[in-house]
Amino acid sequence: MTLDDVRAFGTEVVVLGIGSTEPHGPILPYGTDYFYCDALCRRAVRQANERGARALMYPTFPIGNNVNFKAWPFACRIGVRTLMLALLDVISAVEEDGVRKVVFVNGHGGNTDAIRAALREHFHNTPRERRAFVCMSTGMAASRALDHGGEVETSCMMRLKPDLVRTEHLQDMPFGKPTLEWLEHPAVYWVRPWHLHVPMGGGGETRDSSAEKGEDYLASAAENLAALLVELSGAPWHPDFPYAPQPE
Ligand SMILES: [Zn+2]
Repeated sequence: MTLDDVRAFGTEVVVLGIGSTEPHGPILPYGTDYFYCDALCRRAVRQANERGARALMYPTFPIGNNVNFKAWPFACRIGVRTLMLALLDVISAVEEDGVRKVVFVNGHGGNTDAIRAALREHFHNTPRERRAFVCMSTGMAASRALDHGGEVETSCMMRLKPDLVRTEHLQDMPFGKPTLEWLEHPAVYWVRPWHLHVPMGGGGETRDSSAEKGEDYLASAAENLAALLVELSGAPWHPDFPYAPQPE
């Protein structure tokens, strides 16, 4: 978009994807989370705007938090606080531009905590009269939260970047198990050293992956994200957003 395009657009919502650059095992490229997140944002924003939304897409962040990937070479990372500060700066700039709705689309599980913390910090530090509504979406398909280099991501990359998928290495990749049973309970949170959690760099059975499954997955994630953007874009902002305006 040019300056004139942007001025004429009437932006209601700003969308920022947050990816990562890190090993994804023997099959997928380091850029998997970035490629996926960027493609999802582009598709969803295009679909939403075709249905009347005014969603402006910012360039997807290629670098995020993979602080637990240190055992592998060149996992490209910034720190938890750095990511938080970068996101807070983006929100603040968007607020200065008069926009009051921001959607972060997260393409990497390791980013989640920093993004959530940034949302809380923003809520804490911004007066309600000019505080943008900010939410995070993971693309709205729960299965991906468990997937690192497994069938979902492999299928998506077969659809998006087939020339970068090393299909000769498709296999079932084991997950590491902690020696303490209760650490596996979903109610217990801890940071997993990723080289012990997925010793091959990716985890799960990948031999049933296909571009068709990737397309199905991306299509449904984009459709859900587009629906969120349409709803957000069409709803007028006020200080009590997204609840009904309260009497003063
Ligand atoms: Zn990934």
